[in-house]
Amino acid sequence: MKRSEAGALWVPTHFAKNAKWMGRQGRGLREASKIDAGNLMTEIRDTVILGSGCAGLTAAIYTGRAGLKPLVLEGHEPGGQLSITTLVENFPGWPDGIQGPELIQNMKKQAERFGATFQLAHLNRVELGAHPIRLHTSEGEIHTRTLIVASGASARWLGLPSEQALIGHGVSSCATCDGFFFRGKEIAVVGGGDSAMEEALFLTRFASKVTLLHRRESFRASKIMLERAMAHPNIELRTNTVVEEVLGVEEKDVRGLRLRDTINGEVCELAISGLFLGIGHDPNAKMFAGQMDLDEDGYIKSTGNVLTTRNGVVVPGVFACGDVQDRRYRQAITAAGSGCMAALEAEKYLEEHAH
Ligand SMILES: Cc1cc2nc3c(=O)[nH]c(=O)nc-3n(C[C@H](O)[C@H](O)[C@H](O)COP(=O)(O)OP(=O)(O)OC[C@H]3O[C@@H](n4cnc5c(N)ncnc54)[C@H](O)[C@@H]3O)c2cc1C
Repeated sequence: MKRSEAGALWVPTHFAKNAKWMGRQGRGLREASKIDAGNLMTEIRDTVILGSGCAGLTAAIYTGRAGLKPLVLEGHEPGGQLSITTLVENFPGWPDGIQGPELIQNMKKQAERFGATFQLAHLNRVELGAHPIRLHTSEGEIHTRTLIVASGASARWLGLPSEQALIGHGVSSCATCDGFFFRGKEIAVVGGGDSAMEEALFLTRFASKVTLLHRRESFRASKIMLERAMAHPNIELRTNTVVEEVLGVEEKDVRGLRLRDTINGEVCELAISGLFLGIGHDPNAKMFAGQMDLDEDGYIKSTGNVLTTRNGVVVPGVFACGDVQDRRYRQAITAAGSGCMAALEAEKYLEEHAH
């Protein structure tokens, strides 16, 4: 430790324990500094990671191992989407599958082992143009040289208590992830857009019958997707129908749905084993609007895999990974992969901008 001329305490952040890493780390070796924000001395961090899902945690493992002492802001859903599911069978390295929360706990432990720290804070506002970058969180202001955005895309749910109670027990928002568990079973998909059609068509690979439930008479889906769904022998479309309750809460397993006809008010039950929501996702990127390029649905438009842009120009020191910038794959492994890329880019950026 040493003191700056002004007398503020300077704390070394890069710490190379292992000589093997000195070459790489040495180039970026700098010291965390403090700035005077009003009367409050605020530490400038090397890297802050927004989100503690698989993308954020992977970025934390990599930046932690690089000696950057990442701070991870956990937000409204610590552990991200995998923390609300049950068995994950497609994450490499777990031949018998692993429970989502356990996988996330393992990643968190791994990140902590390399010096990552976690804070239960929500990012409300950001100043990406400032140097250092300023983050206005529920727990106060944070200053950082690099920001890794891993804030995910939240699936839209119906919001029924019975639906929420059965997520991971027959209710899902991810056909790619969970379709496999419904081989030979009857299931339902909710939605009227292209994602619902895609999910329903995909799920026919496993399910013996898919009932597509839509609250309106007409569909938002493109003509071609709708025609494909209508033509499929194992898909039945039911319009003007809403789900009032998911049955099976006591059994902790979906047993059926209580449905209501929106025209005549009639209520009936549909026996199914699984319910998939195909009503879209909300990328958690609203706080970046105007400071970062977002696509028409609010996903971060990244370039070079994980670089962010504003009006097509790269935003220095700000990287995006995981579902918040991936509307196509939305998988744990792809989120983790891009978390690794974002971490390596942040590390490279800090090395190149060492002073
Ligand atoms: C029910 C379900 C089952 C799934 N099953 C599988 C599966 O079997 N296999 C598979 O590969 N994938 C599965 N997925 C998909 C997988 O969970 C996601 O692809 C993955 O979690 C994306 O990781 P992420 O880190 O990008 O985002 P997320 O996991 O969504 O994490 C986002 C993080 O950002 C934080 N955050 C958001 N906004 C803010 C803010 N303003 N301030 C601070 N923090 C913020 C959140 O609190 C959260 O910690 C499933 C998803 C669901 C919903």
